[in-house]
Amino acid sequence: MWDSPIEHASAISLIVKPFCIRTRLSLLPNVFSGGSQGSGVSSISDISCVLLMNACPCGYLFDEEKECKCTPLQIQRYLGRISGPFLDRLDIHIEISRPKFNDLESAPNGESSPVIKKRVEKARLIQQKRIQEHDIDENIINSNSHIPASVVQKICQVTVDGKQMLKHAFSSLNLTARSYNKILKVARTIADLAGQDLIDTEHIAEAIQYRSLERKLWR
Ligand SMILES: [Zn+2]
Repeated sequence: MWDSPIEHASAISLIVKPFCIRTRLSLLPNVFSGGSQGSGVSSISDISCVLLMNACPCGYLFDEEKECKCTPLQIQRYLGRISGPFLDRLDIHIEISRPKFNDLESAPNGESSPVIKKRVEKARLIQQKRIQEHDIDENIINSNSHIPASVVQKICQVTVDGKQMLKHAFSSLNLTARSYNKILKVARTIADLAGQDLIDTEHIAEAIQYRSLERKLWR
């Protein structure tokens, strides 16, 4: 079922309805990991996949203006449809609040898309150069997210302070090996975007922040 749309896309977004599509969601980790027997997925797909879901059945949990009407049990059952191993395979988890009227009315601030594009292209060049320097097959790895666990320590080099922060995060947040590697690879990308050779504490702190939702909701 995933073969056709994913093989031909470079980016997809899916609205996740945990109550309705548990079986189909269970196939997605295989898509990210390159497939497995019987999954119906046979190859690594080079895609950016964005999954969106509400934090509770009514959609107002954590809303500043409207009260959530769900019971704790309803919320627990709803979130329970998304498994730990599934969350583990996602690179970044972030919380987005409902925009306020004034936000929609005011002119957008921040960087423009062309400026961001330029920075991303520069970071991609840094990544490709690093892959060539480490003599790694570019057909297997063409970005930080594809770095296999076997060479992640070699490619994602961290400062002494950064290592201390990672050590503390690993024990205090009960990270899995997969989560730990995800944090390292995301931190590597943040450092690349900043033009830094070594991953430092600020890059690791930002990468850890992108996994905070997992702990907030699925604790
Ligand atoms: Zn609710």
